[in-house]
Amino acid sequence: MRLLLIGPPGSGKGTQAVRIAEHYGLEHISSGDLLRRHVADGTSIGRAVEQCINQGDLVPDGIVMDILRKPVEAASKRAGYVLDGFPRTVEQAEAAYLVAKSLGASVRIALHLTVSREELIRRLLARGRQAGRTDDTEEVINHRLQVFNESTSPLLDYYARRETLVSVDGDRPVQEVTCSAIAQLDQLCQQFDAGRHR
Ligand code: AMP
Repeated sequence: MRLLLIGPPGSGKGTQAVRIAEHYGLEHISSGDLLRRHVADGTSIGRAVEQCINQGDLVPDGIVMDILRKPVEAASKRAGYVLDGFPRTVEQAEAAYLVAKSLGASVRIALHLTVSREELIRRLLARGRQAGRTDDTEEVINHRLQVFNESTSPLLDYYARRETLVSVDGDRPVQEVTCSAIAQLDQLCQQFDAGRHR
């Protein structure tokens, strides 16, 4: 299975990606984690993206595609992956579609986590206090939410038109969100299987 997690910052993508990946035996690949690792290691990629991340802007597509290619190819040879934080734009989704096709892609499902704006801000400010992420400050949070609304939310239409969009209410306890996501994913996979055998 190839699963894409789409949701605004603070919607629980990272938390749910780990849990869903574990349930289905998939690799969890987070573009944000990979980028932050480059920053922490002081690589040339890290130096190139640090300012974008700290300001809450999107990193250029070419860099993101470069760092994801290897882990995505490796996971594709195994059971598949849960991509967390990618794609973030329709352009990235189109590029990702071509890469997946060249790898002989199986079903790709986009899972959308919905959470109210007030709850997102509450969670992100709490994370900023606890984990000290440089982009979890009030000003940058507002900008990241705006970037999500402008650049990432058009993806929801993009995947809905391809009939592979599942929406889950992420404004609930972690375990409830995971159970609901897995129930919907199982149902969608059954529909795909039935369609294939028709
Ligand atoms: P995240 O951990 O997913 O919240 O991502 C943290 C930051 O990393 C984002 O605000 C962007 O600056 C950058 N980033 C992560 N994924 C992407 C992506 N797919 N495209 C562009 N920038 C990204």
